[in-house]
Amino acid sequence: MLRVPYGADLYEHLSAFCRARRIRLGTIAAIGAFTEVTVGYYDQKERRYYKKRLRGDIEIVSCLGNVSVKDGQPFLHLHAALGDKRLRMLGGHLFPGSSVFAAEARIDELAGGRRVRVPDARTGLALWDCGAT
Ligand code: ZN
Repeated sequence: MLRVPYGADLYEHLSAFCRARRIRLGTIAAIGAFTEVTVGYYDQKERRYYKKRLRGDIEIVSCLGNVSVKDGQPFLHLHAALGDKRLRMLGGHLFPGSSVFAAEARIDELAGGRRVRVPDARTGLALWDCGAT
């Protein structure tokens, strides 16, 4: 469990944490608040991500994801459910490009398995090569 410092980029901070500790498989959860954040969605027809940058008092209601391996390095996949001042929810795929106001994260390292991301022709995404269809 770790506290993410004020002003840190959540994605980059957690990525650096996993790289430094050689965590290559695990689950991630975080709560807290951003002063700014970049989230988006994957357009399935266009096969590209659309990003939106939000600023303000943004609650991290729930940020969930995982760490696996892509191009030989730990790679994080995170989604964030966010709340605004009116308690409305929005969110999506979390990108680098955030600034943490305060956040607490938990990384549960998993042993005994391996997940490696490889290009997937059907979706255009880098998905786990684990023999599943
Ligand atoms: Zn995603």
